[in-house]
Amino acid sequence: MEIKKNINQKNTNYVDDELNQLYSHFKVIKEKNNVDFKKTEEYQNYRKDWRDTALKHKITNFPLHLDIEVTSYCNLACPMCPRTHRVEMGNWENRMMKLDKFKRIIDEGAEKGLKAINLNNFGESLYNKNIIEMINYASKKGVLDIMMHTNGTKMDHKMAEGLVESGLTRIIFSMDSISKEIYEKIRIGATFEETVNNVKLFYETREKLKSKLPVIRISMVRMKENDHEVKNFSSFWGKYADEISYTDYRNQDGLDKVDRYVKTKKENKSYACPALWQRMTINATGEVTACCRDAGKRLTLGKLSEKNNLKSIWDGQVLKDSRALHEKKQAYKIDACNGCDHIRGVIRPGEKA
Ligand code: SF4
Repeated sequence: MEIKKNINQKNTNYVDDELNQLYSHFKVIKEKNNVDFKKTEEYQNYRKDWRDTALKHKITNFPLHLDIEVTSYCNLACPMCPRTHRVEMGNWENRMMKLDKFKRIIDEGAEKGLKAINLNNFGESLYNKNIIEMINYASKKGVLDIMMHTNGTKMDHKMAEGLVESGLTRIIFSMDSISKEIYEKIRIGATFEETVNNVKLFYETREKLKSKLPVIRISMVRMKENDHEVKNFSSFWGKYADEISYTDYRNQDGLDKVDRYVKTKKENKSYACPALWQRMTINATGEVTACCRDAGKRLTLGKLSEKNNLKSIWDGQVLKDSRALHEKKQAYKIDACNGCDHIRGVIRPGEKA
């Protein structure tokens, strides 16, 4: 298989891209800004483990990556987002993660092998008033890669300066469009001109502070509504970004009633999802789920509490059983994974190996 062949190549950045390109395409605009924090031996070892967990199903002492939902609140109602559908159904709880809970997560992770965090799941993280302190804490505790997705609507001068100085390594602005008409149809509740100014402000703040970090990525989820803007997306946003990413739309929770796909879905009969060997998601409500695609928390591995730490959830029976089913090509037996089109196509019930 092409990916396995590439794993032996010396150029590790290329291999990373190969894994990412299963579902996303990245375009690097300003490479000089991206490379420094990736050069350390610890980072290279982490990326090697990332590939070995995905391809060889190596089991590490602790998840390499945690998605931490510092809030489940969001000011927008994007039609392709599972949160929007669940809010409409009256099936969503807005919660803020407290600082002491976040610190407990980082303390345990730093001790046991955590390498990277993403400060989101289904919410706008800039609404957590402790966000800068959280990033700063994780950075001081040695988490190598600290990333955050944002819709950019709440960015201002003070927030931009705080984030640039916080230890954040990557920020991903979810923009999806280059025009007012399409942007405001997709990012419902946001105003195009304001968000463009906020992204620009962030870029200029980083330049003014002469900081290489965080790496700035501007992303597009490709779907029917915006696909005609793909060819000009990078020239429009490239002025304010180090990387541009294009990710294919996925009906993450199965709740989106509109067909937004721009590519034909491919079924994959030997699907074993890397997420089960690489990461866990800590929801603002405290439940720990297997991955960041499961807004309905259907594959809940446990609940974080004084008695139940992350390591015991990582080593727990639910995750062991889920991995075994994926390895036996029976992922469709897990409700959350059945029909999930993350990374390698749709899984259908009754598939034979
Ligand atoms: S729901 Fe999808 S992304 Fe999550 S573990 Fe299952 S297959 Fe992987």
